[in-house]
Amino acid sequence: MSQVAIVGAGLGGLSLALALQHAGHACALVERAPELTEVGAGIQMGPHVMRRLFAWGLQDALMERIAQPAALQARDALRGDVLAVLPLGTSFAQRYGAPYATIHRADLQAVLCQAVLQGGSTELQLGTTCTRWVEQLDGVSLELETGPASSPVQERACVLVGADGLWSRVRSSGWTLPEPAATGHLAYRAMLPQALLPERLRSQTVNVWMGPHLHLVTYPVRQGEWLNVVLLLQPQGAQHPITPGWDLSREPHAMAADVQAALRGCCADVRDLLGLIEQWRVWPLFGRGTVAGPDQMARGRVALLGDAAHPMLPYLAQGAGMAIEDADCLAQCWTRTDLTEPQRLHRYAVERWQRNARVQLQSRRNADIFHATGWLRWGRDLGLKILGQRLMDQPWLFSG
Ligand SMILES: Cc1cc2nc3c(=O)[nH]c(=O)nc-3n(C[C@H](O)[C@H](O)[C@H](O)COP(=O)(O)OP(=O)(O)OC[C@H]3O[C@@H](n4cnc5c(N)ncnc54)[C@H](O)[C@@H]3O)c2cc1C
Repeated sequence: MSQVAIVGAGLGGLSLALALQHAGHACALVERAPELTEVGAGIQMGPHVMRRLFAWGLQDALMERIAQPAALQARDALRGDVLAVLPLGTSFAQRYGAPYATIHRADLQAVLCQAVLQGGSTELQLGTTCTRWVEQLDGVSLELETGPASSPVQERACVLVGADGLWSRVRSSGWTLPEPAATGHLAYRAMLPQALLPERLRSQTVNVWMGPHLHLVTYPVRQGEWLNVVLLLQPQGAQHPITPGWDLSREPHAMAADVQAALRGCCADVRDLLGLIEQWRVWPLFGRGTVAGPDQMARGRVALLGDAAHPMLPYLAQGAGMAIEDADCLAQCWTRTDLTEPQRLHRYAVERWQRNARVQLQSRRNADIFHATGWLRWGRDLGLKILGQRLMDQPWLFSG
């Protein structure tokens, strides 16, 4: 097996394979799914993410697929009014060295995957599950399963990177960290063709509509032809149709009715737009405490990357972004020939853990801010009206 073994070919694992390839290193990428698929949903990527993707040579392929929203607007979901606007045009892109982009997940995955396969230095094994690993003095031994009928095989690598997502097997086999816990929040996702929407509901901006115990994010994807819709709900016990024991296999019409009931009190634009959606997909959201030190991202010859290391609520839209940043950093550390292999992973963890923890924390704070009620909501709206752009721009994030 190659020097670096990566478990998980999600956006994080593919990014690491590409970043290593770009730095001249081979790797083996193991993915349990028999084929690479992504959910039919969008993803926002700030300039800090786009700069890295462009540096890996993906600029042309991405420019054909992304949408470049004109602005990010914060809106009140009940009244519908715009509270603040952050323009995302040319001056924003010049300030941060790349555009703010939105893209369909399948398109991003396809671009990454194609680049990985074209590079020729990644050995991709689909339909292969890593069930356990053992660290040895000079490497890591992985147990891989390719199906219930075949017996497990052992493979060796210099180091192992767990990019295997929220329920990471690599993490649970080597760390005694608590497993992710249900937050009680639900994410509903859908996509609508803009051509079929009434003119007033079409949009080429990122809109964040904030209401009590909920918020809605809409943005264009596929060069603006589709509108991606994400509704985040924080169910409130008996007042809300979705209780903790709520059945996730609900029929589409019942799910649409749940959404409409949750939107009671929202403005006409929000209700009308979401009323057009017949088929929702729903995700219960899980979280863990923030990363507390480099030791939680790398130990010896094993490192964690992306959601495996630092799952986060999607309230800052940064989970994939941080996985891509992790990949970039790890590949750079891997080129440090002055360091031993475990030292390179440790260097990666030292460079990454605080930024990941900060983003995790800010994502959690945003949940309280976006879903605020009462005086907090009043203060939020006043702050946004007065400080607007200054509150929404995030140089610490976009310049990183
Ligand atoms: C509603 C919502 C909206 C979001 N919006 C955004 C956004 O706008 N911007 C953003 O940056 N992020 C966003 N995110 C977060 C983002 O989707 C995730 O953080 C990101 O996809 C995580 O990527 P990953 O590669 O770390 O993990 P995953 O995508 O979970 O990939 C893990 C891979 O590992 C494989 N795997 C697991 N176990 C094994 C095993 N034992 N052996 C082999 N393979 C294995 C899995 O099959 C999978 O392919 C959002 C998330 C949600 C829920």
